[in-house]
Amino acid sequence: MKQRLALLGSTGSIGCQTLDIVRRRPEEFEVTTLTAGSRWEALVAQAREFQPDSVVIADERYYERVREALASEPIKVYAGSEALSQVVTGGEVDTVVNALVGYAGMLPSLSAVKASKRLALANKESLVVAGEHIMREAAERNVPILPIDSEHSAIFQCLAGEVSAPRRVIVTASGGPFLRTPAEELKNVTVEQALAHPNWSMGAKITIDSSTLVNKGFEVIEAKWLFGLKPEQIDVLVHPQSIIHSMVEFEDGAIKAQLGTPDMHLPIQYALRFPERGELGEERLDFSKCANLTFEAPDLVRFPLLQTAYDCLRKGGNSCCVMNGSNEVAVAAFLRGEIKYIDIQSVIMGTLEKAQFVANPTIDDYAASNEESRRIAREIAQRLRK
Ligand code: NAD
Ligand code: MG
Repeated sequence: MKQRLALLGSTGSIGCQTLDIVRRRPEEFEVTTLTAGSRWEALVAQAREFQPDSVVIADERYYERVREALASEPIKVYAGSEALSQVVTGGEVDTVVNALVGYAGMLPSLSAVKASKRLALANKESLVVAGEHIMREAAERNVPILPIDSEHSAIFQCLAGEVSAPRRVIVTASGGPFLRTPAEELKNVTVEQALAHPNWSMGAKITIDSSTLVNKGFEVIEAKWLFGLKPEQIDVLVHPQSIIHSMVEFEDGAIKAQLGTPDMHLPIQYALRFPERGELGEERLDFSKCANLTFEAPDLVRFPLLQTAYDCLRKGGNSCCVMNGSNEVAVAAFLRGEIKYIDIQSVIMGTLEKAQFVANPTIDDYAASNEESRRIAREIAQRLRK
C-alpha cells in the first residue's frame, strides 16, 4: 500500500522538495491533498501533475480561479484556513506533512494529531506556539511526530536505537549571513543582504529568522517539546559550514552527530520513510573538501533574540506564542521595507512587555494571544516606520 500524504504548504520550499521525493518514488507515495497560501497557479500545476483528491487555497480570493482551472479534473477544491484543519483528518490520509509557515500551521498540526495521523513536521511554529498541547495529544494517541527541521532530524537520527535518555543536545547553527557583521552595521542591513543565507535556500520568513537567530531560538523551543528536554539541556553551537546538523551527548560522555551536505531532501525523506533509509541521489559529503569544521559560541550581544527565546521558554505560558506572533509581524514589515532590520528586535521585545501573560493557556487562549501580539506588534512597527 502506498503511503498517502496530505501536504500542507505544497508550493513552498519544503513543500516542493517533498514533491521531489514523491516524484522519485511513485510506487511508495501518493498525494491526497495539496494546499497553498496564495500561489494558486503553482497549486493548479501541482494538482494536475499529482492528481490529489482535494486541494485547498487558503487565500479565498483565488478560490474561483483554482476551481475554474481544475474544473475538468476529479479534484475537490476548498478555500480558507479552516479547510486546512479539515482535509488532514480524512480517512484517505496516512501522513500529514506540515510545510506551512508561521502560526497558520498550528491548528492543522493539532488537528492531524487528534485524528491520529502521523505528522511529518517542518512547521516549527506549531511547537513554538502550542508544543505542550500538541505533544500531549500525540502521546495520548501514540501518534508519531517526525521532525523535518534538519537539526531535529539530526537529533532524532542520533537517538534512533538508543534506550538511554540524552544528557544534552547540541543544536548547530550556521550563524547566518551576519555572523561576522559588526553590531554598528547590523542596524542598517538591507532586505537583500538578510535574504542571502550562506548555506541554505529557504522561504523568506525562515531566512530572515535565520539571520536574527530567532530561527535557532525557535529550534531550541522545538527541541524541548519534541525530545522532552529542559532548556538547560539544549545548547546552541555556531558551526558555519552546516555539515554537522546537530549532536546528542549521553551520560557516559559519548557524543553522536549526524553529518551531511546541507540538503533538506534528506530529513524530508527520513521523516517520510522512517525507520528506513533510501537512495537519495544527492551530492555526497566529501571530507577532503570540508577539512575545516569550526565551532564557536553564539554572540548573544549582537543576536539577543536567541536569549529572548530561552527566556520565553523558561517563563512558559503564552510567552513563546507572543514572541512568535510579534516576530511574524516584524519580519513581514521588514520584508516590505517598512521598518529597519534592527527594529525586528524592538518590535518583539516591546510586544513581550505589553502582551498579557497567560500562565496556562488553552488553544483558544493561544489564538487570542496571537491576535493580541500581532496587534501590539503592528502598533510598534507603525511607530518605528521609516
Ligand atoms: P515557504 O514560505 O517557502 O512556504 C510556505 C508554504 O505555506 C507555501 O506553500 C505557502 O503558500 C503556504 N502558506 C504561507 N502562509 C500561509 C497561510 N497563512 N495559510 C496557508 N498557507 C500558507 O516556507 P518554507 O521555507 O518551506 O518553510 C515551511 C516551514 O518549514 C516553516 O515553518 C520553516 O520554519 C520550516 N523549515 C523550512 C526549512 C527550509 O529549508 N525551507 C528548513 C527547516 C524548517
Ligand atoms: Mg533548522
